[in-house]
Amino acid sequence: MTDGFVYEALPMRVVFGSGSISRLPGEAERLGARRLLVLSAPEQRDLARRVAGLLGGRAAGVFDGARMHVPVQTVAAAEAVAAELGADGCVAAGGGSTIGLGKALALRRGLPVLALPTTYAGSEMTPIWGLTEDARKRTGRDPAVLPRSVVYDPDLTLTLPAAVSATSGLNAVAHAVEALYAPDGSPVVAAMAEQGVRDMAAALPRLVRDPRDGEARAAALRGAWLCGACLGATTMGLHHKLCHVLGGMLDLPHAATHAVVLPHVAAYNLPAVPAAADALRRALGTADPAAGLAALAAALGVPGSLRGLGVAEGDLARVAAEVLANPYANPRPVTGPELAALLRAAWTGDLGGTP
Ligand code: NAD
Repeated sequence: MTDGFVYEALPMRVVFGSGSISRLPGEAERLGARRLLVLSAPEQRDLARRVAGLLGGRAAGVFDGARMHVPVQTVAAAEAVAAELGADGCVAAGGGSTIGLGKALALRRGLPVLALPTTYAGSEMTPIWGLTEDARKRTGRDPAVLPRSVVYDPDLTLTLPAAVSATSGLNAVAHAVEALYAPDGSPVVAAMAEQGVRDMAAALPRLVRDPRDGEARAAALRGAWLCGACLGATTMGLHHKLCHVLGGMLDLPHAATHAVVLPHVAAYNLPAVPAAADALRRALGTADPAAGLAALAAALGVPGSLRGLGVAEGDLARVAAEVLANPYANPRPVTGPELAALLRAAWTGDLGGTP
């Protein structure tokens, strides 16, 4: 299928702009929430207190125990606090981990979520939830977990360290790249993906030079919104499958793995999807988008190879076997020898070695 598509708009309300944190009370009122529980990670406790202060009488309290990968124990603790305080909604102030906790409360207690994102992960734009129990992460899609309103205030991202900005920004770019050739893509998604990549690619090198560059922060957060919306609307392909297996099997850092693998998957897939390749040429301003993605990662100082992330060459065959064992959407068929060659190229960091 080349010209038909299905597009289902997700009900996303977005308030964007420097200083927009001050619009939270209005958003809470619009939601009809009177007792909001403010969620944050322990490191962002001050932000949670600031949000509670802004909400005044509409704040029921603060739960600042959000953790990576949404452990069920954390969810249970937050649920207990929500019940004790009689919360009728929550404000998730932070990155993907905190927003993930908000989504878990929406899933289990039906609490509506207001999101105040402070990273580029993009979770606030997706109906995807995750819960980790006994070291196993379950994920699913449910429209009930989609935040009712998202307040993007670039000022809150000024403190995001340059290295985290780079890797989480490239992670966002990966969502947009795979959305461009997803089986459930559409012209709307393609437009969001192209602009998301353009914003990110322009902003990230500036942020690495000067993390307090307000204009670049705004562009990167706008890119994060668009790339997150792409993830929420489509099914990801080979790149996400590979990163999921690499991360799960070898315990690699999530965002850095994305940064290493993306140029190789782009080099592999883009010849099969000319329209996606053209969109990336325009967004990155280069004739060779795969090389452009590798150059962007290099300019950001992100590791350029799986070897550099500590992967042993002997592990690659296990990874390939696991990837081949489970079906997933991809525009170019993936065979054993081609996948082995792609993985080896990603291991050495030699883009020319990708089949
Ligand atoms: P994170 O939320 O774990 O935050 C990383 C660290 O950065 C934390 O210590 C946090 O306190 C700190 N931090 C966040 N914002 C900051 C800021 N502005 N200034 C200073 N410090 C700040 O990391 P993340 O990358 O945002 O999220 C990763 C998680 O999100 C993963 O678990 C991933 O699976 C999930 N995720 C989910 C979806 C989805 O659709 N469900 C999408 C993307 C990511």
